[in-house]
Amino acid sequence: MTNHPASPISFPFNNSYAHLPEAFYARVPPTPVEKPKLIRLNDALARQLYLDPDKLATDEGIEILAGNRIAEGSEPIAMAYAGHQFGSFVPQLGDGRAILLGEVVDQDGVRRDIQLKGSGPTPYSRQGDGRAALGPVLREYIVSEAMAVLGVPTTRALAAVLTGEAVWRETPLPGAVLTRVAASHLRIGTFQFFAARGDADMIKRLADYAIDRHDPEAREAANPYRAFLDGVIQRQAELVARWLHIGFIHGVMNTDNMSISGETIDYGPCAFMDTYHPATVYSSIDRRGRYAYANQPAIAQWNLTRLAEALLPLLADDEATSVREAEEALSTFSARFDAAYASGLLSKIGLTEGSEKDLPLAQDLLARMANNKADFTLTFRGLCDEIEPIGNGRVRSLFDDPAVFDEWAVEWRNRLANDGQDSSTRRADMQLVNPAFIPRNHLVEEVIVAAVERGDFAPFEQLIAVLAKPFEDQPGFEKYAVPPRPEQVVHKTFCGT
Ligand code: AMP
Ligand code: MG
Repeated sequence: MTNHPASPISFPFNNSYAHLPEAFYARVPPTPVEKPKLIRLNDALARQLYLDPDKLATDEGIEILAGNRIAEGSEPIAMAYAGHQFGSFVPQLGDGRAILLGEVVDQDGVRRDIQLKGSGPTPYSRQGDGRAALGPVLREYIVSEAMAVLGVPTTRALAAVLTGEAVWRETPLPGAVLTRVAASHLRIGTFQFFAARGDADMIKRLADYAIDRHDPEAREAANPYRAFLDGVIQRQAELVARWLHIGFIHGVMNTDNMSISGETIDYGPCAFMDTYHPATVYSSIDRRGRYAYANQPAIAQWNLTRLAEALLPLLADDEATSVREAEEALSTFSARFDAAYASGLLSKIGLTEGSEKDLPLAQDLLARMANNKADFTLTFRGLCDEIEPIGNGRVRSLFDDPAVFDEWAVEWRNRLANDGQDSSTRRADMQLVNPAFIPRNHLVEEVIVAAVERGDFAPFEQLIAVLAKPFEDQPGFEKYAVPPRPEQVVHKTFCGT
């Protein structure tokens, strides 16, 4: 690491993963880049991590964020993992273009990984160049920060920098590095890495580490590893329910992209739906719709089954009992998901104490939306203003056949009339779960084109500012709330790696 001058900028590193056995990672420094230039620094997140944003924005700070300088206390590593990609097992993946600089215990006492993504090759790069193009870096910055304010567990973006170097995809593109912050980078695939090698000792080391970090209360349970598995299942069930509530499609739910912490991770070909349809897919590589919007709960359960398999040696002393424990745990997924999904969906239509007819009422709305190509976000946001006996007509106009909404609205208003809550409270509550602003694909695309083709980052900044207040009507910014015009529709998203 002689080519990396140490920095006086202090990161309060408190590393744990780098002290696990060598099999867990490769020690590798980031590869310096030609000409680092700051695109954006997330000041509030920096402070949350006890970092001084002013210092980080100096030349020296930017060199750290670009991988040209190693902050004191940093122990850079690339993490090893495996994973099922579109259903096929790959025994060795690992951080091929990401480097964990270290961990910081934040202002809430939560341990956070600080990782560079796009910071050069590692022993896990295979054919890749270890780099990231500007477009995907901006996309991850925008969408992960939007998810955070929408209240969805997610990794965060601390900074984005230009490298001053080109990366070659189909054409030369500007290169960039994203600084990602996560509750951890433990993936289902991390467990699979050791399971594939039949290394029960390392599976145990990893599970103990994960329990300390994410499920400390599992230690007190009669079967701590079963309690840990239950915890991961609960978090994934809640996470996928939250995705469905806002029309989010992850796009590449491979087991290496599923976090043990329950955060959304790896924003490759992800997208938000405009027009509602449960079979929606955007990812160019998801040809069969494996990761379509409505498949996400089933895929989460499939992925969790892979985790349970990896944990079998820990669940009991004999195989039959282990399998039973795993099956019992997995069988709880549906109920956990259904509960999270139903309560969130009901709150979107303004109902809190559900009767058994409420969920079918909400699902009936979704079916009508699908048949009438209604915009997902605008329909639910618009409902907030439809509580009074007669609406303003905006939601009905989102339906191919407006009468289909009218019919539903009669039933819905009847239901609301039998519920004590006053309209203004209900409206305010609904506005807090039905965003006006989401990172629509065409907006993200527009911002990326401006940055990549014209070096203009003003649209990126403006979009981030609007998305920072998703639940407020922002007069003057209607452009960011409306669906794309036909010629603006983005049909496919690309991993862009
Ligand atoms: P993803 O589909 O982005 O989750 O990545 C799958 C695997 O490919 C992971 O092991 C990544 O680290 C690796 N990878 C993706 N892009 C690159 C790249 N440009 N260079 C090296 N490895 C990469
Ligand atoms: Mg990945």
